[in-house]
Amino acid sequence: MNKVLSVNAGSSSLKFKLINMPKEIILSEGNIERIGKKDAIFNFNSINRKEKKILEIENHQIAINLVIKGLTEFGIIKNLSEIKGIGHRVVHGGEMFNDSVLINEDVIKKIEKISDLAPLHNPANLMGIKIFKEMLPDVDAVAVFDTSFHQSMSQEAYIYGVPYEWYEKYGVRKYGFHGTSHKYVSRRVEEFLDKKDAKIIVCHLGNGGSICAVRNGKSIDTTMGFTPLTGLIMGTRCGDIDPAIIPFISTKMERSINEIENDLNKKSGLLGISGVSNDSRDIEEGIKNGNKRCILAQKMFTRKIASYIASYHVLLGGADAIAFTGGIGEKSALTRAQIVERLAVLDVKLDMKLNDVRGDERLISANESKIKCFIIPTNEEVMIARDVVRLLNC
Ligand code: ADP
Repeated sequence: MNKVLSVNAGSSSLKFKLINMPKEIILSEGNIERIGKKDAIFNFNSINRKEKKILEIENHQIAINLVIKGLTEFGIIKNLSEIKGIGHRVVHGGEMFNDSVLINEDVIKKIEKISDLAPLHNPANLMGIKIFKEMLPDVDAVAVFDTSFHQSMSQEAYIYGVPYEWYEKYGVRKYGFHGTSHKYVSRRVEEFLDKKDAKIIVCHLGNGGSICAVRNGKSIDTTMGFTPLTGLIMGTRCGDIDPAIIPFISTKMERSINEIENDLNKKSGLLGISGVSNDSRDIEEGIKNGNKRCILAQKMFTRKIASYIASYHVLLGGADAIAFTGGIGEKSALTRAQIVERLAVLDVKLDMKLNDVRGDERLISANESKIKCFIIPTNEEVMIARDVVRLLNC
């Protein structure tokens, strides 16, 4: 068995899982938040030990050093040579990467080149790649992109109705995100259905959310676009809006495009509509207390999801299955029930007893439902580790 490290380096955070492959057993996992601050949080868990420390972590180098040291100090591995490969999550692969790839100098240059498409994420992902390479020079690493699963979309799905030269000159097109999750979940559903050419609609509903239409194991459309801002109404992101709102609000409020973009990313969605919270647990609490704007936020949220599912059902020529994943998709029975209720015309129906669950992997549709519905807890880290094993032959 081989130990593979799955890494997600953000601008001020670092998440990791050490996974025993091919059995996919998590040996250790943890995260570091608030890197660069005096009160950074270091969480480190393994089968028999849990650690949480608040300490100053000046930069990513120190954070990564803590992780590497922790793995041996906590006795999870005896020697660093036990780590046979590292998988790095990279947000944007542009059109250059339609699959995960073994990292070398050329790949690093290419990821740098497309960093203008994901200026907040790709540089942080790259920093993680470079520091791990310095600290573990003998361990090969693989980049796993959020976008690559969606590179199978056809032009008619990914070109926007804007001047074509925006695409040719600047790469303005739909890329889609959450690809690793959509791939993992759709593969699980294929296994459940025992059908490789299944037509599946995956609803990844977390703080960020997107839906993906999958046919023959390939993404044919997805709701996020050039950036993760579009598509569904999310925790704090607006989803689809009329772009003419931006210059209008810019004039009315005398605000810059950057300030408005920030509002659309961080102050919109469930938070913006409800005025209460981005967290669906708080929205559900508000609904119980009769808060009108929470009720409105939830209605808008489920309506948008149902309308995309209906549209992808048509696009797929009739879906075999709908899968729910992500924090809300896995844990909110209410949201799943309200979405599926809106789809009654498609003869899809939940079994309310089976749906009354948090986070279990299971079928939740009624026997008579024409489309099977599932909860599939996502596992992006395992998907990353599988790609490491595939590409490194380890
Ligand atoms: P991210 O997109 O940041 O990875 P997650 O997939 O972890 O987020 O989802 C986080 C969201 O899941 C929370 O913001 C909350 O809205 C929702 N959530 C978590 N637990 C529950 C629950 N028990 N009931 C309803 N919603 C939940």
